[in-house]
Amino acid sequence: MAISCRTGCGQDVLYEMESFPDGFIYYMPWNLDRTIHNCQNLPENETNDELPSNIENSTIWQEYRQLEAEIGVTSYDLTFDSSETEKFEIFKKLLVLQQIKCTLFPSPLMYGYVTSDMVDLQDGVKEVWWTHLTTLSECYETVGMLDCAITALILQDKITHNQSKRILELENKKKQEQPNTTNSKYEVSIDTKLTVMQIRDTHVRELEKKIKDFLRKHYSIEKFRAENDELFLQIDESRETKNERRDVAIGKFDDHYEHLTFGSCIFIINQEVTRCKKKKELDSIFLKISSQQKREMDWVRDNFRNEIDHTVENVEEFDACAKALVIAYSARIIKHLNDLEHI
Ligand SMILES: [Zn+2]
Repeated sequence: MAISCRTGCGQDVLYEMESFPDGFIYYMPWNLDRTIHNCQNLPENETNDELPSNIENSTIWQEYRQLEAEIGVTSYDLTFDSSETEKFEIFKKLLVLQQIKCTLFPSPLMYGYVTSDMVDLQDGVKEVWWTHLTTLSECYETVGMLDCAITALILQDKITHNQSKRILELENKKKQEQPNTTNSKYEVSIDTKLTVMQIRDTHVRELEKKIKDFLRKHYSIEKFRAENDELFLQIDESRETKNERRDVAIGKFDDHYEHLTFGSCIFIINQEVTRCKKKKELDSIFLKISSQQKREMDWVRDNFRNEIDHTVENVEEFDACAKALVIAYSARIIKHLNDLEHI
């Protein structure tokens, strides 16, 4: 549901709930046309905590300052002589503060330093390091909560598409530090020789196929029709048109699921998760797909399967890190969906 932006800029915003593995909830602000809400009330660049006066004097900011004073720590408490233990304790508090900041000002674009901290990565991809979400990630990382640190960066990447290098670093760190967790088993190797097109045709297509099989099995055609009437009819029509034009039998018997786009598959999964939670169908298989896994699917879709994305013209735009990640994420989700069949 759209509500008025909480900075008071006057625009209606859709706050999309994103839950972190530790239970923290971030609200991503979207405009009604599904572009990110780059709030005019929030500064794009912020240095030394100097904010425009409308923010500085706002109740929200005053409240933040008060909380900061209560928690009693700022990033200036960190010095080069801080021991590991001191650093850990400071970051535990900074994490709480950063969560509050992300809650009060949920903008993935605020605090982007665009001057000296802007690192030119390969292929001209800019890395904007200090946003609220990347700082949140750094806090999580320092206190050893790597899954949460990755979540923050995936959310940032969704908007600015410049975090794959860092996400990959964290994935590898997780693999080293927590070698026995399921997700760590997957190779996140950067030296893939595959091109983006090849990755789409193999790994991503395999993932798409797996998700369609999953829906075929657990989301009946009756339910499909009842819950997504419009989409169902659209597919019906397109099947008919295609079949009329077709002079070979291949594809003629494709079912409705086969005609779903990757995006619609994810849409149905999210819809089903919400429905099951609402109806308290708690043993539904859809609830065994975690927020993190949904976010990874989202990430794959946004980066590698988006029909209207920019990669059509320049297919090699993705850096090696993004390619490594999409391979690892696809494999991980496929494995999870396979495992679910055997529970
Ligand atoms: Zn706003």
